[in-house]
Amino acid sequence: MMTIQGICPKCGKRVLHVNVATVVGMVDGVSKSRCISHSCIHCHVVLGVQIDHRAKPRSKNKPAPTE
Ligand SMILES: [Zn+2]
Repeated sequence: MMTIQGICPKCGKRVLHVNVATVVGMVDGVSKSRCISHSCIHCHVVLGVQIDHRAKPRSKNKPAPTE
């Protein structure tokens, strides 16, 4: 059983805050989905990555800026 909640597995400090970064999930070298990574603010080890459900795939509804 793996419990990383609460304490960083690398530096052992309490994880009260995490750095959140947007990353791209790759499948066979092809970008598939936008993900969010959480990393320790102390040692910057990545604690986990999850798919960003808020991010929408490229939408054609969004009007392209015209100049
Ligand atoms: Zn850490």
